[in-house]
Amino acid sequence: MSGFNETPRANRLHIAFFGKTNAGKSSVINAITGQDIALVSNVAGTTTDPVYKAMELLPVGPVVFIDTAGLDDRTELGRARIKKTDEVTDKTDVAVFVIRCGDTDLGVEREYMRKLEEKKTPVLVAYNMFEENGAQAAAPVGEKSVVVNAKTGEGIDRLKQLIIDNAQESEQPTITGDLAGEGDVVILVMPQDIQAPKGRLILPQVQVTRDLLDNGCRVVSIKTEDLESMLGELKHPPKLVITDSQVFGYVNEHLDKEIPLTSFSMLMAKSKGDIGEFVKGARAIARLKPGDRVLIAESCTHHAQKGDIAREKLPKWLNDYAGGGLVIENTAGHGFLDDLSKYKLVVHCGGCMVNRKNMLSRIEQAKKAGVPITNFGVAIAFLNSMLDRVIW
Ligand code: SF4
Repeated sequence: MSGFNETPRANRLHIAFFGKTNAGKSSVINAITGQDIALVSNVAGTTTDPVYKAMELLPVGPVVFIDTAGLDDRTELGRARIKKTDEVTDKTDVAVFVIRCGDTDLGVEREYMRKLEEKKTPVLVAYNMFEENGAQAAAPVGEKSVVVNAKTGEGIDRLKQLIIDNAQESEQPTITGDLAGEGDVVILVMPQDIQAPKGRLILPQVQVTRDLLDNGCRVVSIKTEDLESMLGELKHPPKLVITDSQVFGYVNEHLDKEIPLTSFSMLMAKSKGDIGEFVKGARAIARLKPGDRVLIAESCTHHAQKGDIAREKLPKWLNDYAGGGLVIENTAGHGFLDDLSKYKLVVHCGGCMVNRKNMLSRIEQAKKAGVPITNFGVAIAFLNSMLDRVIW
């Protein structure tokens, strides 16, 4: 397997194709990728659930192409498909609308374009020229649109270039690049307790390690109890210590105040979300009082273990802080709740399984509902009075 196939989907730019049933989305994707990745049929509505295909789009790098169901499917099943398509809009980095040349009834496309533009997602249009309507292929071609013929390949290179140009604008911020560089020693504190998955590291630890290695850092990974002896063995203080936020207190106690400290969750919050908004949200914990409703949201479902952070630890810590009586609700999985207005605070996980756009959409949704939002790591930093100690 080549390297790029192993990049987690959450780290790939999401390029989604929208359009009416059989506007030719699947054929256009196939023409771009040169692979048969989506079902192509002249029976309307063959694409049901979104189809994800990971590929390398040079020079952008690893991307995922998403083929969505037809926007005009009004059947019972169609409504379920449309809900999935709506979820795709939350994580789309670049949207490509495929419109059959000559189609002038574009109400549903415009509705989706508006949704995407509100999320500041670049919107491109590929006017697909079919043989039978080639004569009326005069489509308005602007800066962000192109006429293509999926069958002959005409215009496909221009569409690809348009995607590349727009994809490059939505790249993710660096995880550690502005905190440590070539030759710097960075200590990672990674408790391997009951919650650590057997035989592997959790994704934030893997991603941060990879990022540091890419930046030429020298990475020392240790368990919590080895921190003191490790610090003693180093000739010079480390450039940075990155800890699991659950042991913030211990690490801070055993670390010289001059040594910069952060957590995996703070770094994920920076690269995945809007750290400024999360810090503001964490400070809202100070205003919580008995009876207030708090939503603890996780982006993926996983088997909750004893001492689970989302279901046991955070609820306890928040309650201790607020004087008890908080109504805590949990949600897990790719969907987010439609109505957040009943909550006084949303505390979100690091979101390592979703892309940045998805997290930004959730932040936006909370902001629209007027509900402060923070993430696990930033909340824990606040609860440990560490917000002014950590960097990001
Ligand atoms: S709950 Fe969130 S942070 Fe934890 S593994 Fe899932 S996506 Fe990643």
